[in-house]
Amino acid sequence: MGVGLGVSAAVGLLWGALTWGAGAMAQSAPPTTRDNVLLAGRTMSCSGVRTQLDAALPNYGIAVPEQHLVVINPRLVAQQPSVVQWFVFAHECGHHHVGGNEMVADCWATRRGVADGWLDKSGLKHICRSFGGGPATETHPAASNRCANLDRCFEVAFAAHRNAVSSPAIASVDVPEPSDRTDSANGSDAVSAYAPDFESRERASPTAQMD
Ligand SMILES: [Zn+2]
Repeated sequence: MGVGLGVSAAVGLLWGALTWGAGAMAQSAPPTTRDNVLLAGRTMSCSGVRTQLDAALPNYGIAVPEQHLVVINPRLVAQQPSVVQWFVFAHECGHHHVGGNEMVADCWATRRGVADGWLDKSGLKHICRSFGGGPATETHPAASNRCANLDRCFEVAFAAHRNAVSSPAIASVDVPEPSDRTDSANGSDAVSAYAPDFESRERASPTAQMD
């Protein structure tokens, strides 16, 4: 059916965008709402936020602030590497914590990935690629800017994480390899260290959604 190359490419470009207004949600049978989702073998949860898997969602993921909800399309994200799947979820979760700014949500997700041990430098490359390489639009920062932001956020998060784990008891030990930890931590609620680089496209809408 409709999920050809064109649709996939469009989704790849759009998943990080804000999609305000009605109509983006699937209208088929409402998916089950849960406390967490299983993505690429990892249980992902978002503090204070419910989750849904919806294969009819026309996007990788969205955040629905008014419903305290993150919706992920498992069929679409399954086409991406594991780290991208986790990042999509963390990014949407981030919107619930830091609002509609894409760059700040990216940074929040990056920090969470480092803290939870599923994001390393090679993962950043996959995530950057998933942005699709497009230029800035009315609702999207340019992919290149998002990628650069990711790198900055990663450096800050990684340094903070290393300091956090370098207690005297383990002072001589390197930072653990972020590989196979399976916890589903709730993530940090710390405020982003980055001022928003892009305007949030917030508009009054009864069913505001972010993706
Ligand atoms: Zn977003």
